Amino acid sequence: MDQIYLDGHSTTPLAPEAQAAMAPWWHAQAGNPHSPHLRGILASRAVESARAHIAELVGTAPQELFFTSGATEANNIAVRGIALAALQAGVDRRRIIVSAIEHKSVLESAHSLASLGFEVLEAPVTPFGMVDLDQLDELVDHRTLLVSIMAVNNEVGTIQPLGSVVALARASGALLHVDAAQAAGKVPLDLAEFDMASISSHKLYGPMGIGALFVSAAASLRPLPILFGGAQEAGLRPGTVPTPLVVGFGAAAWLAGDRMEADAIHQRSLAAALVNELRARQVQLIENIPEDLRVPGSLSIRFPGKDAMSVINGAARTLAISEGSACNSGAINSSHVLTAMGLDATASSETLRIYCSRYNTDGEAIEAARILADLSKH
Ligand code: PMP
Repeated sequence: MDQIYLDGHSTTPLAPEAQAAMAPWWHAQAGNPHSPHLRGILASRAVESARAHIAELVGTAPQELFFTSGATEANNIAVRGIALAALQAGVDRRRIIVSAIEHKSVLESAHSLASLGFEVLEAPVTPFGMVDLDQLDELVDHRTLLVSIMAVNNEVGTIQPLGSVVALARASGALLHVDAAQAAGKVPLDLAEFDMASISSHKLYGPMGIGALFVSAAASLRPLPILFGGAQEAGLRPGTVPTPLVVGFGAAAWLAGDRMEADAIHQRSLAAALVNELRARQVQLIENIPEDLRVPGSLSIRFPGKDAMSVINGAARTLAISEGSACNSGAINSSHVLTAMGLDATASSETLRIYCSRYNTDGEAIEAARILADLSKH
């Protein structure tokens, strides 16, 4: 039997529709979208049509989206680029506020700015992995250049209270960046409310290696580029725009918008079926995040007394799931997300990360529960 893939927080399978849309652009229709000849013009049209589909999904104008290699690069441009812009423009705000559970591409970009005189403060989160708004409010003030808070956490699936974050950032005149990699295409988003946002194609059933940074036309400061050597993407992200990847991203975005409601219902029901089947099999389990706080399909669970790595390795042939802890060179370090939520080292090491996607079936959810139930008892 094929392995059951339940690791959609890491990457989602390419939608067949996106794969088909990409196909001609690799060979038959190949052309650099920046070339002046007909092939180039057709490629450029395909890129712009994809940009419009993506913009529609996330509620922005197409010209406010800049293609990057993914959300990691978009996060780096947003955080480092805005700090460079502040230095150049003589803006004297020197604080960056992030949540403690941001992706490393936000956390490490922010901390890398210490050498340029920026101070990074991390806002704590609640036990369910939601940024603590009172504490965030305490941290954000007239010294704050940028607040960067994710829309959905990639380890535990918690949806963040962005409406309140917007109000809080606006009240102190800080810019707001949102890492929406795990939210775009999955929950309704209106990125136009923010100054900047990052999205990634391979989290919404598009190809890997492509993403975008949104920069609002209304933002009081625009990020400077961090790469040099070309005028593409308005000079913010030089380099040839990869037509097939962008076309696949656009097709996936269109599909995600069309199916958002149906996907959410399907994925929520798969996650519930998996948990119910585990319970029916008398498995002792703890859900770290309540259903109504997490993105549909996501599950952060643990079997008390059972190490996550032994479950993952035990299921390696039949089930693709991942741990809630980062595994570095063989040694398990507690995940910064679970630690920030207040889980101790044991609870962290027991935590499994599961994501039921659009392409999983009811049968797979039940079979996964059967496999996990067996492993949780041995
Ligand atoms: N931010 C979040 C929240 C993510 O989940 C990921 C991917 N794990 C990234 C950023 C990085 O995205 P990419 O793989 O497109 O660089």
